[in-house]
Amino acid sequence: MAYDFDLFVIGAGSGGVRAARFAAGFGAKVAVAESRYLGGTCVNVGCVPKKLLVYGAHVADELEQAAGFGWTLEEGHFDWGTLIANKNREIERLNGIYRNLLVNSGVTLLQGHARITGAHEVEVEGQRYSAEHILIATGGWPQVPDIPGKELAITSNEAFYLKELPRRVLVVGGGYIAVEFAGIFQGLGADTTLLYRGDLFLRGFDGSVRIHLKEELQKRGLDLQFNADIQRIDQQADGSLKATLKDGRELVADCVFYATGRRPMLDNLGLENTGVELDDRGFIRVDDQYQTTEPSIIAIGDVIGRVQLTPVALAEGMAVARRLFKPEQYRPVDYQNIPTAVFSQPPIGTVGLTEEQALEAGHKVQIFESRFRAMKLTLTDIQEKTLMKLVVDAETDKVLGCHMVGPDAGEIIQGLGVALKAGATKQQFDETIGVHPTAAEEFVTMRTATR
Ligand code: FAD
Ligand code: NDP
Repeated sequence: MAYDFDLFVIGAGSGGVRAARFAAGFGAKVAVAESRYLGGTCVNVGCVPKKLLVYGAHVADELEQAAGFGWTLEEGHFDWGTLIANKNREIERLNGIYRNLLVNSGVTLLQGHARITGAHEVEVEGQRYSAEHILIATGGWPQVPDIPGKELAITSNEAFYLKELPRRVLVVGGGYIAVEFAGIFQGLGADTTLLYRGDLFLRGFDGSVRIHLKEELQKRGLDLQFNADIQRIDQQADGSLKATLKDGRELVADCVFYATGRRPMLDNLGLENTGVELDDRGFIRVDDQYQTTEPSIIAIGDVIGRVQLTPVALAEGMAVARRLFKPEQYRPVDYQNIPTAVFSQPPIGTVGLTEEQALEAGHKVQIFESRFRAMKLTLTDIQEKTLMKLVVDAETDKVLGCHMVGPDAGEIIQGLGVALKAGATKQQFDETIGVHPTAAEEFVTMRTATR
Protein backbone atom coordinates (compact mmCIF):
# COMPACT_ATOMS: atom_id res chain seq x y z
CA MET A 1 0.00 0.00 0.00
CA ALA A 2 1.26 3.49 -0.82
CA TYR A 3 1.43 5.79 2.19
CA ASP A 4 1.61 9.60 2.19
CA PHE A 5 4.89 9.37 4.16
CA ASP A 6 7.54 6.77 4.99
CA LEU A 7 7.92 8.29 8.46
CA PHE A 8 5.54 10.56 10.38
CA VAL A 9 7.22 12.13 13.42
CA ILE A 10 5.10 13.56 16.24
CA GLY A 11 7.05 16.26 18.10
CA ALA A 12 9.81 18.54 16.79
CA GLY A 13 11.96 18.34 19.92
CA SER A 14 15.46 16.98 20.37
CA GLY A 15 14.69 13.39 19.35
CA GLY A 16 12.03 14.06 16.71
CA VAL A 17 14.04 16.65 14.77
CA ARG A 18 17.14 14.44 14.76
CA ALA A 19 15.21 11.39 13.50
CA ALA A 20 13.30 13.41 10.88
CA ARG A 21 16.33 15.21 9.45
CA PHE A 22 18.45 12.10 9.16
CA ALA A 23 15.62 9.95 7.81
CA ALA A 24 14.98 12.58 5.10
CA GLY A 25 18.72 12.70 4.43
CA PHE A 26 18.67 8.94 3.87
CA GLY A 27 16.00 9.46 1.21
CA ALA A 28 12.79 8.85 3.19
CA LYS A 29 9.63 10.91 2.74
CA VAL A 30 9.16 12.47 6.16
CA ALA A 31 6.62 14.69 7.94
CA VAL A 32 6.93 16.27 11.39
CA ALA A 33 4.01 17.66 13.37
CA GLU A 34 4.69 20.15 16.16
CA SER A 35 1.97 21.68 18.33
CA ARG A 36 3.91 24.15 20.47
CA TYR A 37 7.49 25.16 19.68
CA LEU A 38 10.24 24.08 17.29
CA GLY A 39 13.19 22.53 19.08
CA GLY A 40 11.01 21.16 21.88
CA THR A 41 11.68 21.36 25.60
CA CYS A 42 15.46 21.70 25.39
CA VAL A 43 15.44 24.77 23.17
CA ASN A 44 12.38 26.53 24.56
CA VAL A 45 11.93 25.67 28.25
CA GLY A 46 14.88 23.43 29.08
CA CYS A 47 18.63 23.15 28.57
CA VAL A 48 19.18 26.31 26.52
CA PRO A 49 17.21 29.00 28.42
CA LYS A 50 18.23 27.30 31.70
CA LYS A 51 21.93 27.56 30.83
CA LEU A 52 21.49 31.23 29.82
CA LEU A 53 19.93 31.97 33.23
CA VAL A 54 22.73 30.01 34.94
CA TYR A 55 25.27 32.20 33.12
CA GLY A 56 23.31 35.24 34.31
CA ALA A 57 23.40 34.07 37.93
CA HIS A 58 27.10 33.25 37.64
CA VAL A 59 27.92 36.88 36.87
CA ALA A 60 27.30 37.57 40.58
CA ASP A 61 30.25 35.28 41.40
CA GLU A 62 32.50 37.06 38.92
CA LEU A 63 31.58 40.43 40.41
CA GLU A 64 32.32 39.15 43.90
CA GLN A 65 35.72 37.88 42.79
CA ALA A 66 36.63 41.03 40.85
CA ALA A 67 37.95 43.00 43.85
CA GLY A 68 40.67 40.41 44.52
CA PHE A 69 42.00 41.04 41.02
CA GLY A 70 42.13 44.78 41.55
CA TRP A 71 38.87 45.77 39.94
CA THR A 72 36.71 48.34 41.64
CA LEU A 73 33.20 48.18 40.26
CA GLU A 74 30.35 50.51 40.95
CA GLU A 75 27.48 48.81 42.70
CA GLY A 76 25.88 46.44 40.21
CA HIS A 77 22.19 46.31 39.41
CA PHE A 78 20.45 43.30 37.93
CA ASP A 79 17.41 43.62 35.68
CA TRP A 80 15.39 40.40 35.23
CA GLY A 81 13.36 41.90 32.36
CA THR A 82 16.49 42.47 30.26
CA LEU A 83 17.77 38.94 30.84
CA ILE A 84 14.42 37.39 29.91
CA ALA A 85 13.97 39.60 26.82
CA ASN A 86 17.48 38.75 25.58
CA LYS A 87 16.89 35.07 26.30
CA ASN A 88 13.59 35.16 24.38
CA ARG A 89 15.30 36.76 21.39
CA GLU A 90 17.90 34.00 21.34
CA ILE A 91 15.21 31.29 21.57
CA GLU A 92 13.35 32.84 18.62
CA ARG A 93 16.59 32.76 16.63
CA LEU A 94 17.00 29.07 17.46
CA ASN A 95 13.36 28.34 16.52
CA GLY A 96 14.15 29.77 13.08
CA ILE A 97 17.26 27.63 12.78
CA TYR A 98 15.26 24.49 13.61
CA ARG A 99 12.66 25.44 10.99
CA ASN A 100 15.39 25.84 8.36
CA LEU A 101 17.09 22.60 9.36
CA LEU A 102 13.87 20.68 8.81
CA VAL A 103 12.68 22.43 5.68
CA ASN A 104 16.13 22.36 4.06
CA SER A 105 16.36 18.61 4.67
CA GLY A 106 13.14 18.15 2.71
CA VAL A 107 10.93 17.37 5.73
CA THR A 108 7.25 18.41 5.51
CA LEU A 109 6.58 20.53 8.61
CA LEU A 110 3.02 20.54 9.91
CA GLN A 111 2.02 23.00 12.61
CA GLY A 112 -0.58 21.67 15.04
CA HIS A 113 -1.50 18.95 17.46
CA ALA A 114 -1.12 15.42 16.09
CA ARG A 115 -3.49 12.63 17.09
CA ILE A 116 -2.97 9.04 16.06
CA THR A 117 -6.16 7.67 14.51
CA GLY A 118 -4.89 4.24 13.50
CA ALA A 119 -1.75 2.12 13.31
CA HIS A 120 -0.69 3.98 10.13
CA GLU A 121 -2.70 7.20 10.39
CA VAL A 122 -2.26 10.58 12.06
CA GLU A 123 -4.62 13.56 12.13
CA VAL A 124 -3.33 17.15 12.31
CA GLU A 125 -5.74 20.10 12.24
CA GLY A 126 -8.52 17.99 10.71
CA GLN A 127 -6.32 16.57 7.95
CA ARG A 128 -5.45 12.85 7.94
CA TYR A 129 -2.08 11.53 6.79
CA SER A 130 -0.97 7.93 6.32
CA ALA A 131 2.53 6.71 7.08
CA GLU A 132 4.41 3.43 7.04
CA HIS A 133 6.06 4.26 10.37
CA ILE A 134 4.91 6.67 13.10
CA LEU A 135 7.51 7.99 15.56
CA ILE A 136 6.24 9.32 18.89
CA ALA A 137 8.73 11.88 20.23
CA THR A 138 6.36 14.00 22.31
CA GLY A 139 8.62 14.49 25.33
CA GLY A 140 7.46 15.20 28.86
CA TRP A 141 5.66 17.72 31.04
CA PRO A 142 6.22 18.90 34.63
CA GLN A 143 4.38 16.96 37.27
CA VAL A 144 3.14 18.66 40.45
CA PRO A 145 1.77 16.59 43.36
CA ASP A 146 -1.92 16.95 43.95
CA ILE A 147 -2.00 19.20 47.04
CA PRO A 148 -4.48 21.97 47.92
CA GLY A 149 -3.25 25.18 46.29
CA LYS A 150 -1.13 23.45 43.62
CA GLU A 151 -2.52 25.93 41.05
CA LEU A 152 -0.68 28.70 42.93
CA ALA A 153 2.67 27.01 42.27
CA ILE A 154 4.75 27.35 39.11
CA THR A 155 7.05 24.90 37.30
CA SER A 156 10.07 25.39 35.05
CA ASN A 157 7.68 26.08 32.15
CA GLU A 158 6.44 29.30 33.77
CA ALA A 159 9.70 30.26 35.48
CA PHE A 160 11.25 31.13 32.11
CA TYR A 161 8.56 33.76 31.52
CA LEU A 162 8.10 35.35 34.97
CA LYS A 163 7.50 39.09 34.66
CA GLU A 164 9.68 39.81 37.70
CA LEU A 165 12.28 38.01 39.76
CA PRO A 166 10.39 36.94 42.90
CA ARG A 167 11.86 38.32 46.13
CA ARG A 168 11.36 35.08 48.11
CA VAL A 169 11.23 31.64 46.43
CA LEU A 170 10.49 28.16 47.74
CA VAL A 171 11.89 25.48 45.43
CA VAL A 172 10.39 22.00 45.94
CA GLY A 173 12.25 18.86 44.78
CA GLY A 174 15.72 17.43 44.94
CA GLY A 175 16.57 16.56 41.33
CA TYR A 176 18.36 18.35 38.49
CA ILE A 177 15.77 21.09 37.98
CA ALA A 178 15.28 21.95 41.66
CA VAL A 179 19.00 22.27 42.32
CA GLU A 180 19.66 24.24 39.13
CA PHE A 181 16.81 26.69 39.66
CA ALA A 182 17.62 27.17 43.34
CA GLY A 183 21.05 28.34 42.13
CA ILE A 184 19.53 30.60 39.48
CA PHE A 185 17.06 32.29 41.83
CA GLN A 186 19.59 32.67 44.62
CA GLY A 187 22.40 33.82 42.32
CA LEU A 188 20.18 36.51 40.85
CA GLY A 189 19.31 37.82 44.32
CA ALA A 190 16.12 36.07 45.47
CA ASP A 191 15.88 34.81 49.02
CA THR A 192 15.72 31.08 48.21
CA THR A 193 14.79 27.95 50.17
CA LEU A 194 15.01 24.44 48.73
CA LEU A 195 12.68 21.85 50.26
CA TYR A 196 13.36 18.18 49.65
CA ARG A 197 11.30 15.30 51.04
CA GLY A 198 14.26 12.97 51.74
CA ASP A 199 17.42 13.10 53.85
CA LEU A 200 19.70 14.42 51.10
CA PHE A 201 18.97 15.69 47.58
CA LEU A 202 20.20 14.31 44.20
CA ARG A 203 19.34 10.69 44.87
CA GLY A 204 21.33 8.44 42.54
CA PHE A 205 24.38 10.74 42.40
CA ASP A 206 27.62 9.79 44.16
CA GLY A 207 27.40 10.19 47.94
CA SER A 208 30.50 12.41 48.20
CA VAL A 209 29.10 14.68 45.48
CA ARG A 210 25.75 15.05 47.24
CA ILE A 211 27.34 15.94 50.58
CA HIS A 212 29.91 18.27 49.02
CA LEU A 213 27.28 20.19 47.04
CA LYS A 214 25.08 20.46 50.12
CA GLU A 215 27.96 22.04 52.06
CA GLU A 216 28.89 24.43 49.25
CA LEU A 217 25.29 25.57 48.75
CA GLN A 218 24.95 26.19 52.47
CA LYS A 219 28.18 28.25 52.44
CA ARG A 220 26.54 30.41 49.78
CA GLY A 221 23.57 31.02 52.06
CA LEU A 222 21.01 28.83 50.28
CA ASP A 223 18.47 27.65 52.83
CA LEU A 224 18.39 23.85 52.40
CA GLN A 225 15.58 22.06 54.21
CA PHE A 226 15.64 18.27 53.96
CA ASN A 227 12.89 15.93 55.20
CA ALA A 228 10.52 18.79 54.39
CA ASP A 229 7.47 18.71 52.14
CA ILE A 230 4.56 21.04 51.52
CA GLN A 231 1.06 19.98 52.55
CA ARG A 232 -0.88 22.98 51.22
CA ILE A 233 -0.38 26.43 49.69
CA ASP A 234 -2.63 29.41 50.43
CA GLN A 235 -2.62 32.89 48.98
CA GLN A 236 -2.54 35.62 51.61
CA ALA A 237 -4.25 39.02 51.53
CA ASP A 238 -1.02 40.78 50.45
CA GLY A 239 -0.64 38.39 47.51
CA SER A 240 2.18 36.36 49.08
CA LEU A 241 1.96 32.57 49.36
CA LYS A 242 1.90 30.65 52.63
CA ALA A 243 3.19 27.09 52.42
CA THR A 244 2.17 24.83 55.27
CA LEU A 245 4.61 21.94 55.65
CA LYS A 246 3.68 18.41 56.66
CA ASP A 247 5.45 19.00 60.00
CA GLY A 248 3.19 22.00 60.64
CA ARG A 249 5.71 24.77 59.95
CA GLU A 250 4.61 27.70 57.79
CA LEU A 251 6.83 29.43 55.24
CA VAL A 252 5.93 32.59 53.33
CA ALA A 253 7.19 33.34 49.82
CA ASP A 254 6.30 35.18 46.63
CA CYS A 255 6.79 32.13 44.44
CA VAL A 256 6.55 28.37 45.01
CA PHE A 257 8.44 26.51 42.28
CA TYR A 258 7.85 22.76 41.87
CA ALA A 259 10.46 20.51 40.23
CA THR A 260 9.14 17.11 41.22
CA GLY A 261 9.75 15.18 38.02
CA ARG A 262 8.18 15.01 34.57
CA ARG A 263 5.45 12.78 33.16
CA PRO A 264 5.29 11.57 29.54
CA MET A 265 3.34 13.91 27.23
CA LEU A 266 0.52 11.67 25.95
CA ASP A 267 -2.36 14.18 26.11
CA ASN A 268 -4.93 13.54 23.40
CA LEU A 269 -2.36 11.54 21.43
CA GLY A 270 -4.90 8.88 20.46
CA LEU A 271 -3.00 5.89 21.83
CA GLU A 272 -6.37 4.22 22.45
CA ASN A 273 -6.60 3.80 18.65
CA THR A 274 -3.43 1.70 18.66
CA GLY A 275 -1.93 -1.31 20.38
CA VAL A 276 0.70 0.88 22.11
CA GLU A 277 1.13 -0.13 25.76
CA LEU A 278 2.53 1.86 28.68
CA ASP A 279 4.99 0.56 31.27
CA ASP A 280 4.20 0.52 34.98
CA ARG A 281 5.43 4.12 35.40
CA GLY A 282 3.13 5.32 32.61
CA PHE A 283 5.80 5.83 29.94
CA ILE A 284 5.54 4.23 26.48
CA ARG A 285 6.81 0.67 26.57
CA VAL A 286 9.45 -0.03 23.90
CA ASP A 287 11.95 -2.79 23.17
CA ASP A 288 15.66 -2.18 22.64
CA GLN A 289 14.98 -0.87 19.13
CA TYR A 290 12.34 1.63 20.36
CA GLN A 291 9.59 -0.51 18.89
CA THR A 292 6.28 -0.14 20.75
CA THR A 293 3.76 -2.96 21.08
CA GLU A 294 2.15 -1.66 17.83
CA PRO A 295 4.46 -2.83 15.00
CA SER A 296 4.25 0.40 12.94
CA ILE A 297 4.82 2.75 15.90
CA ILE A 298 8.17 3.67 17.44
CA ALA A 299 8.88 5.94 20.44
CA ILE A 300 12.02 7.73 21.67
CA GLY A 301 13.16 10.40 24.10
CA ASP A 302 11.53 11.55 27.33
CA VAL A 303 8.24 9.84 26.44
CA ILE A 304 9.87 6.42 26.99
CA GLY A 305 11.31 7.61 30.34
CA ARG A 306 14.67 5.90 30.01
CA VAL A 307 17.27 8.67 30.35
CA GLN A 308 15.72 12.12 30.12
CA LEU A 309 18.62 14.00 28.54
CA THR A 310 18.85 15.76 25.18
CA PRO A 311 21.96 13.95 23.91
CA VAL A 312 20.23 10.64 24.67
CA ALA A 313 17.10 11.67 22.74
CA LEU A 314 19.39 12.71 19.84
CA ALA A 315 21.18 9.35 19.89
CA GLU A 316 17.86 7.47 19.96
CA GLY A 317 16.53 9.56 17.05
CA MET A 318 19.66 8.80 15.06
CA ALA A 319 19.42 5.08 15.83
CA VAL A 320 15.80 4.97 14.61
CA ALA A 321 16.57 6.86 11.38
CA ARG A 322 19.45 4.52 10.63
CA ARG A 323 17.62 1.32 11.54
CA LEU A 324 14.69 2.19 9.26
CA PHE A 325 16.42 3.85 6.33
CA LYS A 326 20.19 3.13 6.49
CA PRO A 327 20.43 -0.24 8.25
CA GLU A 328 24.06 -0.78 7.25
CA GLN A 329 24.97 2.20 9.50
CA TYR A 330 22.79 1.11 12.43
CA ARG A 331 24.42 0.95 15.85
CA PRO A 332 22.48 0.60 19.10
CA VAL A 333 22.64 3.42 21.64
CA ASP A 334 25.15 2.73 24.41
CA TYR A 335 23.51 3.61 27.74
CA GLN A 336 26.69 2.86 29.72
CA ASN A 337 28.83 5.74 30.93
CA ILE A 338 26.57 8.63 29.87
CA PRO A 339 28.31 11.82 31.05
CA THR A 340 26.02 14.41 32.58
CA ALA A 341 26.18 17.75 34.39
CA VAL A 342 23.96 19.46 36.91
CA PHE A 343 24.32 23.20 36.32
CA SER A 344 24.11 24.10 39.98
CA GLN A 345 26.36 26.77 41.47
CA PRO A 346 28.94 25.22 41.71
CA PRO A 347 28.14 22.64 39.00
CA ILE A 348 28.41 18.85 39.10
CA GLY A 349 29.98 16.74 36.34
CA THR A 350 29.71 12.98 36.47
CA VAL A 351 30.28 9.90 34.34
CA GLY A 352 30.21 6.19 35.13
CA LEU A 353 29.45 4.40 38.36
CA THR A 354 29.04 6.10 41.70
CA GLU A 355 30.90 4.54 44.62
CA GLU A 356 27.60 3.13 45.87
CA GLN A 357 26.70 1.59 42.48
CA ALA A 358 30.18 0.09 42.08
CA LEU A 359 29.97 -1.59 45.49
CA GLU A 360 26.45 -2.80 44.80
CA ALA A 361 27.61 -4.32 41.49
CA GLY A 362 30.19 -6.33 43.46
CA HIS A 363 33.34 -4.39 42.50
CA LYS A 364 36.19 -4.16 44.96
CA VAL A 365 36.78 -0.43 44.74
CA GLN A 366 39.59 1.98 45.35
CA ILE A 367 38.56 5.60 45.87
CA PHE A 368 40.68 8.60 44.97
CA GLU A 369 39.28 11.85 46.27
CA SER A 370 40.62 15.37 46.32
CA ARG A 371 39.21 18.62 47.73
CA PHE A 372 40.95 21.88 47.03
CA ARG A 373 40.40 25.63 46.70
CA ALA A 374 40.55 26.58 43.02
CA MET A 375 43.50 28.78 42.06
CA LYS A 376 41.17 31.49 40.82
CA LEU A 377 39.85 31.98 44.35
CA THR A 378 43.24 32.39 46.01
CA LEU A 379 43.19 36.17 45.50
CA THR A 380 39.67 36.41 46.92
CA ASP A 381 38.04 35.73 50.28
CA ILE A 382 35.82 33.00 48.80
CA GLN A 383 36.34 29.67 50.53
CA GLU A 384 34.54 27.41 48.02
CA LYS A 385 36.13 23.97 47.57
CA THR A 386 36.24 21.82 44.43
CA LEU A 387 35.72 18.05 44.75
CA MET A 388 37.15 15.46 42.37
CA LYS A 389 36.68 11.75 42.79
CA LEU A 390 37.65 8.60 40.92
CA VAL A 391 36.07 5.23 41.54
CA VAL A 392 38.48 2.51 40.42
CA ASP A 393 38.12 -1.27 40.23
CA ALA A 394 40.88 -2.52 42.56
CA GLU A 395 41.22 -5.79 40.64
CA THR A 396 41.26 -4.63 37.00
CA ASP A 397 42.49 -1.03 37.62
CA LYS A 398 39.68 0.18 35.33
CA VAL A 399 38.26 3.60 36.15
CA LEU A 400 34.58 2.97 36.82
CA GLY A 401 33.45 6.52 37.59
CA CYS A 402 34.61 10.16 37.61
CA HIS A 403 32.77 12.75 39.67
CA MET A 404 33.35 16.44 40.19
CA VAL A 405 31.78 19.44 41.91
CA GLY A 406 33.37 22.74 40.94
CA PRO A 407 33.69 25.37 38.22
CA ASP A 408 33.45 24.01 34.67
CA ALA A 409 32.62 20.48 35.88
CA GLY A 410 30.42 19.88 32.81
CA GLU A 411 33.18 20.95 30.42
CA ILE A 412 35.77 18.80 32.18
CA ILE A 413 33.67 15.64 32.45
CA GLN A 414 32.98 15.45 28.70
CA GLY A 415 36.60 14.43 27.95
CA LEU A 416 36.61 11.93 30.79
CA GLY A 417 33.50 10.41 29.20
CA VAL A 418 35.66 9.50 26.19
CA ALA A 419 38.29 7.95 28.49
CA LEU A 420 35.70 5.80 30.26
CA LYS A 421 34.13 4.74 26.98
CA ALA A 422 37.57 3.63 25.84
CA GLY A 423 37.92 1.59 29.06
CA ALA A 424 40.80 3.61 30.54
CA THR A 425 42.64 2.28 33.59
CA LYS A 426 43.86 4.29 36.56
CA GLN A 427 47.41 3.69 35.34
CA GLN A 428 46.50 5.35 32.01
CA PHE A 429 45.05 8.30 33.91
CA ASP A 430 48.34 8.49 35.88
CA GLU A 431 50.43 8.33 32.69
CA THR A 432 48.46 11.15 31.08
CA ILE A 433 50.33 14.45 31.30
CA GLY A 434 48.36 17.18 33.06
CA VAL A 435 47.50 20.60 31.65
CA HIS A 436 49.02 23.08 34.08
CA PRO A 437 47.76 25.08 35.85
CA THR A 438 44.18 23.88 35.63
CA ALA A 439 41.72 22.25 37.99
CA ALA A 440 41.23 19.42 35.50
CA GLU A 441 44.81 18.18 35.93
CA GLU A 442 43.84 16.95 39.38
CA PHE A 443 42.05 14.06 37.65
CA VAL A 444 45.44 12.73 36.40
CA THR A 445 47.48 13.52 39.52
CA MET A 446 45.56 11.80 42.31
CA ARG A 447 48.13 9.17 43.35
CA THR A 448 47.12 7.92 46.78
CA ALA A 449 43.88 6.11 47.35
CA THR A 450 41.82 7.75 50.07
CA ARG A 451 39.91 4.52 50.69
P1 FAD B 1 10.95 17.31 23.73
O1 FAD B 1 12.19 18.05 23.49
O2 FAD B 1 10.16 17.62 24.93
O3 FAD B 1 10.04 17.51 22.42
C1 FAD B 1 8.73 17.06 22.35
C2 FAD B 1 7.96 17.94 21.38
O4 FAD B 1 6.74 17.29 21.04
C3 FAD B 1 7.58 19.29 21.98
O5 FAD B 1 8.02 20.33 21.13
C4 FAD B 1 6.06 19.23 22.07
O6 FAD B 1 5.44 20.50 21.88
C5 FAD B 1 5.72 18.28 20.94
N1 FAD B 1 4.43 17.58 21.10
C6 FAD B 1 3.98 16.93 22.19
N2 FAD B 1 2.80 16.34 21.92
C7 FAD B 1 2.50 16.64 20.63
C8 FAD B 1 1.42 16.31 19.77
N3 FAD B 1 0.41 15.50 20.16
N4 FAD B 1 1.41 16.81 18.51
C9 FAD B 1 2.43 17.60 18.07
N5 FAD B 1 3.50 17.93 18.84
C10 FAD B 1 3.53 17.44 20.10
N6 FAD B 1 18.78 17.82 29.16
C11 FAD B 1 20.12 17.91 29.01
O7 FAD B 1 20.72 17.02 28.39
N7 FAD B 1 20.83 18.97 29.53
C12 FAD B 1 20.23 19.96 30.20
O8 FAD B 1 20.89 20.90 30.66
C13 FAD B 1 18.82 19.89 30.39
N8 FAD B 1 18.18 20.87 31.06
C14 FAD B 1 16.82 20.81 31.20
C15 FAD B 1 16.18 21.81 31.90
C16 FAD B 1 14.82 21.78 32.09
C17 FAD B 1 14.14 22.90 32.85
C18 FAD B 1 14.07 20.70 31.53
C19 FAD B 1 12.57 20.67 31.69
C20 FAD B 1 14.68 19.68 30.83
C21 FAD B 1 16.07 19.72 30.67
N9 FAD B 1 16.76 18.71 29.99
C22 FAD B 1 18.12 18.78 29.84
C23 FAD B 1 16.04 17.55 29.44
C24 FAD B 1 15.79 17.70 27.93
O9 FAD B 1 15.17 18.95 27.69
C25 FAD B 1 14.91 16.55 27.42
O10 FAD B 1 15.50 15.32 27.79
C26 FAD B 1 14.75 16.59 25.91
O11 FAD B 1 14.19 17.80 25.48
C27 FAD B 1 13.87 15.42 25.45
O12 FAD B 1 13.67 15.47 24.06
P2 FAD B 1 12.39 14.80 23.38
O13 FAD B 1 12.63 14.85 21.92
O14 FAD B 1 12.11 13.50 24.00
O15 FAD B 1 11.17 15.74 23.77
P1 NDP C 1 14.04 14.43 38.75
O1 NDP C 1 13.37 13.14 38.50
O2 NDP C 1 15.48 14.57 38.47
O3 NDP C 1 13.81 14.86 40.27
C1 NDP C 1 12.53 14.91 40.83
C2 NDP C 1 12.68 15.29 42.30
O4 NDP C 1 11.40 15.55 42.85
C3 NDP C 1 13.32 14.19 43.14
O5 NDP C 1 14.15 14.78 44.09
C4 NDP C 1 12.12 13.52 43.79
O6 NDP C 1 12.42 12.97 45.04
C5 NDP C 1 11.20 14.71 43.99
N1 NDP C 1 9.79 14.33 44.00
C6 NDP C 1 9.14 13.52 43.14
N2 NDP C 1 7.84 13.43 43.46
C7 NDP C 1 7.65 14.20 44.55
C8 NDP C 1 6.53 14.49 45.36
N3 NDP C 1 5.33 13.99 45.09
N4 NDP C 1 6.70 15.31 46.41
C9 NDP C 1 7.92 15.82 46.70
N5 NDP C 1 9.02 15.57 45.96
C10 NDP C 1 8.89 14.76 44.92
O7 NDP C 1 13.15 15.48 37.96
P2 NDP C 1 13.35 16.99 37.53
O8 NDP C 1 11.98 17.52 37.48
O9 NDP C 1 14.37 17.67 38.38
O10 NDP C 1 13.96 16.86 36.06
C11 NDP C 1 13.43 15.95 35.10
C12 NDP C 1 14.51 15.37 34.27
O11 NDP C 1 14.97 16.31 33.30
C13 NDP C 1 15.78 15.00 35.03
O12 NDP C 1 15.69 13.74 35.65
C14 NDP C 1 16.83 15.03 33.97
O13 NDP C 1 16.88 13.79 33.30
C15 NDP C 1 16.35 16.11 33.03
N6 NDP C 1 17.11 17.33 33.29
C16 NDP C 1 18.44 17.35 33.00
C17 NDP C 1 19.20 18.45 33.28
C18 NDP C 1 20.64 18.44 32.97
O14 NDP C 1 21.10 17.61 32.20
N7 NDP C 1 21.43 19.35 33.51
C19 NDP C 1 18.62 19.64 33.87
C20 NDP C 1 17.22 19.53 34.12
C21 NDP C 1 16.51 18.41 33.84
P3 NDP C 1 12.99 11.49 45.25
O15 NDP C 1 14.41 11.52 44.84
O16 NDP C 1 12.81 11.28 46.72
O17 NDP C 1 12.14 10.59 44.42
